[in-house]
Amino acid sequence: MAHWFDLGDVAVVPLIEDDRLLIEPGEFFPGLEPDLADWYAQEPWFDRATGKLVFVIQSFLVCSADEVLVVDACVGAGKDRQRAEFDQLPDRWMRQFRATGVRDVDAVVFTHLHTDHVGAATDQRELVFPDAPHYVVEEEFRYWSSEAGAAAMRRTGDYLADSVLPIEQAGQLSFVAPDAVVGKHAELVPAAGHTPGNVCVRVRGSAGTVLLAGDTLHHGVQVRHPELSTRYCVDPGAAAEVRRRLLTEESGAVLLPSHFPAPSAGRVRRSGFEFADELVRGGQFRYREWVGS
Ligand SMILES: [Zn+2]
Repeated sequence: MAHWFDLGDVAVVPLIEDDRLLIEPGEFFPGLEPDLADWYAQEPWFDRATGKLVFVIQSFLVCSADEVLVVDACVGAGKDRQRAEFDQLPDRWMRQFRATGVRDVDAVVFTHLHTDHVGAATDQRELVFPDAPHYVVEEEFRYWSSEAGAAAMRRTGDYLADSVLPIEQAGQLSFVAPDAVVGKHAELVPAAGHTPGNVCVRVRGSAGTVLLAGDTLHHGVQVRHPELSTRYCVDPGAAAEVRRRLLTEESGAVLLPSHFPAPSAGRVRRSGFEFADELVRGGQFRYREWVGS
């Protein structure tokens, strides 16, 4: 299902690499036994047949008439990865990017440097967008370059070497503050916890605002139980604190977490997570037609 989000003079376009990645609840959230009567244990959040949580792997284009940002870069094609679902993927990301008709990208923004957020920015260690600065919070890069980061990457394989260091070596990794303005319609929002330099990206258009929440929320179960951090959060306590703050301070705002099932964007309600269908436009986004409209 191709779709995009209409914010008036800004379009947010998901590039979906995997629309249904199934993961055991206990792998992500140790000890979690889903309450099958609750909303997060129903479709589209939960696959009843296998008892697994449903995740999406996606990144976003933030398009306006004179600027295009890429926010995050999925797993990427042709990479050696230990998780079978990430290993040697076909070039689905690039095919979707090309289909939008976008030619020039002004900047790439990394919410954090996990393997499912950086890969498509390089192809065989060559930069896919060699003229664009690639923004990341310095603390994030320092952490993954440290011994602690190397230890954390034993589980995934050293994706930093093949997917992030080439950007740094090309002089295109650009360190920014966790509250930096990164485009005409986009600013970072500090959210350290899941990783040390983790951020969200607030995108403001003439007809709506969304918060690209990255990995501050991974799954609906955390809307229900904000105290639940994942096994992969570097600082689980801080991640939970950030999530509570987000769910409180951004109540009423449209959140667009990276891994929520399509269409992913919505508002937190007492009854669960209500998808923001009013912003969703169906069909393939075509940049030049949209700019001309
Ligand atoms: Zn992720």
